[in-house]
Amino acid sequence: MRLVLLGPPGAGKGTQAARLSEKLSIPRISTGDMLRDELNRGTALGRAAEEYMRKGVLAPDDIIIEMVRRRAGQADCGEGFILDGFPRNIRQAEALEELGPVDLVLYLELGEEDVVQRLTDRRVCRECQFVYNLRFSPPKVEGKCDICGGELFQRHDDKEEVVRQRFRTYRERTRPLVEYYEARSILGRIDASGTIEETSQAVQEALQFRGLL
Ligand code: AMP
Repeated sequence: MRLVLLGPPGAGKGTQAARLSEKLSIPRISTGDMLRDELNRGTALGRAAEEYMRKGVLAPDDIIIEMVRRRAGQADCGEGFILDGFPRNIRQAEALEELGPVDLVLYLELGEEDVVQRLTDRRVCRECQFVYNLRFSPPKVEGKCDICGGELFQRHDDKEEVVRQRFRTYRERTRPLVEYYEARSILGRIDASGTIEETSQAVQEALQFRGLL
C-alpha cells in the first residue's frame, strides 16, 4: 500500500505516519528526517539542503526526488510505504506518479495559528528524537526526555519567524496538491485540530472507508 500524508508543518504527519507504519508494517519515509540525518552526518547532500531548511523553504526538487526514488526502491518498501513530507509540490507529485500508483492521500488540515502554536511549543530529544509538546504532552522533568533522559531542544526551524515562512511555503507550493489529488479521487480529508488520538481515529476511518484497512 502506498500512502501520502499531506498537510502543513505541525499537523501531525510524522506522528500519524509512525503509527500507521507500525499498524500496516510498511516503512515511513520522511524526507525532512532524511535531510536532517544527512545534515547530522555532514554529507554533501546535507550541506546542500541546510540553507533551505534553515530558511523554511523547499530544498531543490532534483535532490529530494532522487532521495525518495532510492529509498522507495529498497527491499523493505516492497509492500509499500508511507510518505511524510513528500510530495511538496506538483513536480514532486508527478515524479511520485512515475514510481507507481498512490492508494490514498490523507490531507491533515490545520490553520496557521494552530500550526504556529504547536510548533513553537515543540521540543525534540537530541538522543532518541522523541517529540514533546510543552502544552499538551510535556516531559515529566523540564528539558529532559522521559524515555532516555536525553536533552530536549527546539529545532531552529520551529522558531516563530521560520514557522511562518514554512507555512507560507506550504500554502503557496504544497496546498495546490489538495486539488491535484482531489481531481484523482484519492484525497481523504482529516481534521487535524484535535488530539493525537482523535486524529488517529479519523485516519483509521478514512482507511476503512476506502477498504484499505
Ligand atoms: P519537515 O521536517 O518535513 O518539516 O522538513 C524540514 C525541511 O526540510 C523543510 O522546511 C524543507 O526545507 C526540507 N524538505 C523536507 N521535505 C522536502 C520536500 N519534499 N521537498 C523540498 N524540501 C523538503
